[in-house]
Amino acid sequence: MKAITFHDIGGPEVLRYEDVADPVPGPGQVLVKVKACALNHLDLIVRGRGPAEGLPLPHITGADAAGIVAGPGPGVTGVAPGAAVVLNPALSCGSCRYCRAGEQSLCDNFGILGRDARGAMAELVVVPAVNLHPMPANLSFVQAAAAPLVAMTAWRMLITKAQVRPGERVLVVGAGGGVATAAIQIAKLAGASVCASTGGPEKVRRAREIGADQVIDYRSADVVSAVMDLTGGKGVHVVVDSVGAATWEASLRCLGKGGRLVTCGATTAPIAPMDIRFMWRKQISLHGSTMANDREFRAVMELLVTGKLRPIVDRIFPLSEAQAAETYLESAGQFGKVVLEV
Ligand SMILES: [Zn+2]
Repeated sequence: MKAITFHDIGGPEVLRYEDVADPVPGPGQVLVKVKACALNHLDLIVRGRGPAEGLPLPHITGADAAGIVAGPGPGVTGVAPGAAVVLNPALSCGSCRYCRAGEQSLCDNFGILGRDARGAMAELVVVPAVNLHPMPANLSFVQAAAAPLVAMTAWRMLITKAQVRPGERVLVVGAGGGVATAAIQIAKLAGASVCASTGGPEKVRRAREIGADQVIDYRSADVVSAVMDLTGGKGVHVVVDSVGAATWEASLRCLGKGGRLVTCGATTAPIAPMDIRFMWRKQISLHGSTMANDREFRAVMELLVTGKLRPIVDRIFPLSEAQAAETYLESAGQFGKVVLEV
């Protein structure tokens, strides 16, 4: 099969479009013919730092994919070759205390497709049968691939962790990112009033288009002052921040009393200063969140089927142009997902 591999860690230049041996599904696994694979920041991180310990180079990243079942492995039943599927990118053991309690993203052996196993940036991928989900019939392969990781992540952040309620004010930081485009929509579905921050007039327009009530252009306005103006000095109830170091301190300052900051990543940098006084004076809570459990994944799939949640696709590249696609994602010029069509 053709795949996007890297033999050394580094920038986009290490990526190769080359022939590799077809993967073979083991017991409990299924071979999937990939039709589309969406990029995530995770792909850039894994390419720069290497895959999970114990996985050899060359490696293949790619967490988000949609495709067609090519063949079930030994012992797999109820999976029909030819069926259109979308993959749950979260890998869990199914047997630890967290998995037994239905909290797969806390699994003692938690992994993500493309980091902890060879990923879907290829013509074929092998995944556990339990990670297959019927593809929503109303979506194209590209749209279906664009949805899972960011939508499930945003859902757990807002609904499970921050427990956003109708009428609350939510600030979504960095509205062009994949998680942010899902977070804006999910916060609106939860009945919140949504403010988003982003850079440049085009992204401001797109953020409004997908449902943000107010959008702050951080290039021309101070985000904290703007949020305080918009909220009559009260601040917001919830901030969704996956940007990290560049926005962390401002995000804390945007919170009102009893506010909740929820984070799932740090696309700029992971170390940020923090004025601890804000924490106790305003009685702020911090929530870390990663991916989602199976129940949350299914909830998000249902929203996609009913059209309440829309995958936001920015640009599509052919698989062979993964290097250009990752360079584009690294430039942070996108609004929504960058997807490879296979
Ligand atoms: Zn487990």
